[in-house]
Amino acid sequence: MKELKENILAMEEYAKENNIPIIEKDSIVQIMKYIKDKDNHVESILEIGSAIGYSAILMASCNANVQVTTIERDEARYMECLKNVKKCGMEKRINVVYQDALELNLSEELKYDLIFIDAAKGQYIKFFEKYKNFLKPGGVIITDNLKFHGYVGESSKLDKGNLKSLVEKIESYIEFLQNNPEFDTQFLEVGDGLSVSRWKNS
Ligand code: SAH
Ligand code: MG
Repeated sequence: MKELKENILAMEEYAKENNIPIIEKDSIVQIMKYIKDKDNHVESILEIGSAIGYSAILMASCNANVQVTTIERDEARYMECLKNVKKCGMEKRINVVYQDALELNLSEELKYDLIFIDAAKGQYIKFFEKYKNFLKPGGVIITDNLKFHGYVGESSKLDKGNLKSLVEKIESYIEFLQNNPEFDTQFLEVGDGLSVSRWKNS
C-alpha cells in the first residue's frame, strides 16, 4: 500500500486532468483542524458529494476513530471513489453510497457529528433541510463553495442564465443560514468559502 500522501497527490492530479471540482487545500485543512480538535468530538461524518473520495479520505485520515459515510450520484465518480478508498486501505472506515442524496433514505437512528455538504450548489437548502435531522446535538453542518469563484454577492451584475440562477441560489442559501434560528453559522473566507453551522440544541 502506498503512503497516503502519494495517493492524495495522485488524486489531486487526476482531479485536475479530469476537471473534478475537489475542495481547495485551505478549506480541507480548516475542516481537518476542526475534526482533529478533541473538544469537537468528531467520530461520525456524513458527506454529500464524494466525487473521487478526496475530501472523504482526508477527513477519515484525521483520526483512527473517524467513520465517514459519503454519497455520490455519478457512477463513474463513485467507482473512482471506491478505488481510491481501497488504495488507501480505508474500506472499513469509509462507506461510499451510490445514490442521489435527495432520494436516499438513511435510517433515522443514524446521527452524525459533522455533515459536509459539497454537492449540487443549487440544492443546498434542500440538502440542509433534509440532513439536519441526522445531526447529533452540538454537531455542525459545513458547506463548501459559498463564494462560488467570487460570483456570490455579484449576481445582479450577471446576465440571465444558468450561472446567474446558480449564484442566486447560493446567495439565498447564505441568507437562509443567516436567518436560521436553529443554527449559529460562521462564514469562513478560506478557499472557495466555507460555512460552519452549529446546531444550537446542545
Ligand atoms: N467533496 C468532494 C468534491 C465533490 S464535487 C471533494 O472535495 O473531494 C460534487 C459532487 O457531488 C459531484 O461528484 C456530483 O456528482 C455530486 N453530486 C451532486 N449532486 C448530488 C446529489 N444530489 N446526490 C449525490 N451526489 C451529488
Ligand atoms: Mg466543493
